[in-house]
Amino acid sequence: MKNKIFALIDCNCFYASCEKVFRPDLKDSPVVVLSNNDGCIVALSKEAKNLGIKRGVPLFKSRGIIEKHDINVFSSNYTLYGDISARVMKTLTLFSHDIEIYSIDEAFLNLTDFKHIDLVKYAQKIKETIYKCVGIPISVGIGETKTLSKLANKIGKKYNKFDGVFNIVNHPAKEKIFSFFDVSDVWGIGFEYTKMLHKNNINSILDLVNADDVWIKKKMTIKGLYTVWELRGDSCIDLEKYIPDKKNILSSRSFGSPVTSKKELAEAIAYHITLACESLREQNSVCSFITIFFSTNRFKENEPQYMNAKTMPLLTPHAYTPDLINTAHKALDLIYKSGYKFKNCGVVLGGILPLSHRQLALFDDHGIDYKKTNIIKAIDDINDSYGKEKIITGAFKYNKSWAMRREYKSPNYTTNWNELPLVKA
Ligand SMILES: [Mg+2]
Repeated sequence: MKNKIFALIDCNCFYASCEKVFRPDLKDSPVVVLSNNDGCIVALSKEAKNLGIKRGVPLFKSRGIIEKHDINVFSSNYTLYGDISARVMKTLTLFSHDIEIYSIDEAFLNLTDFKHIDLVKYAQKIKETIYKCVGIPISVGIGETKTLSKLANKIGKKYNKFDGVFNIVNHPAKEKIFSFFDVSDVWGIGFEYTKMLHKNNINSILDLVNADDVWIKKKMTIKGLYTVWELRGDSCIDLEKYIPDKKNILSSRSFGSPVTSKKELAEAIAYHITLACESLREQNSVCSFITIFFSTNRFKENEPQYMNAKTMPLLTPHAYTPDLINTAHKALDLIYKSGYKFKNCGVVLGGILPLSHRQLALFDDHGIDYKKTNIIKAIDDINDSYGKEKIITGAFKYNKSWAMRREYKSPNYTTNWNELPLVKA
């Protein structure tokens, strides 16, 4: 479809920018964020990029450069990033109700209704508002299709002179832009397609735009053809506004330090069941079976190795955390073996269906079921209002010896009353 306008909003260096929101002292300082268990660098601010730090490098290998330049290191704080992301997205709805939240730091807006105003000015306004209200810097790309808005965003970010906003709609130099960028810069064209296209002498976006439709469809399926049409300005990929419910819910992590006792393993599994069950109830669903799994560290070849998994069906599908923990612990009894150092564990909730589709078994007691539903709802409400893990089951402790290593974690400024930022005036 022609005559549409989309904007792609992308938060710049999102995790690093989140760490700076409540630390104005770090405004122009280099910041890096680490992966789970403080393993690798997963995000970095532009100052850290300029110092030559690379993404994906293990922390211990970057120690020298970090110390030399006094770079600020943070463990990942997903509670903070998730909350800041929600604030960004909510603020974006002031500018268009037609929004697709594409990832934690990206969203598409449908701006078709705004095509008669100055779109660059409008995008600058969006940028200023997000910075003023949330404290996060963003870039905006505007195009006739989602694919073009993605490319425009890349341009806006790459060249300082555009100040983070680029509009490719009816751009007089469109052909020149297309001949300058490689096919790998196109949204949806990954490593394999890039290789194939290059082999067939299709290198620039312009080559791709001029390629034969039948050939593209044969080589890249209908999805690839849609991408090419989108580059030509024909909108084929609409906003996806409804996120389908998850069919499986997984919660797993590696331990901060090896776990050697059944008690600790049982605690960790109870913790994952608790997290997974919260997501299950959030989407108003119940599960029909659970799987637990755990394993030793397969990279430590000189240590004895053991991994196992066990699935347990539920008589009646439900989402009641204490009962699911009981079932998970029964599964653990069946497969646990002592004498190993375990590296990770997790749970999967499967056979998920909407709560409204659930059938009680013949001899189920409706009274007890009603009571459990109310108890768990009260717990969810309290945890929603007063912060995560305010009420937990007795099956795991607050001080989790097996929890992730997060030596450099920032406070949960926005989701925990005890960790609110302090202002001295
Ligand atoms: Mg980003």
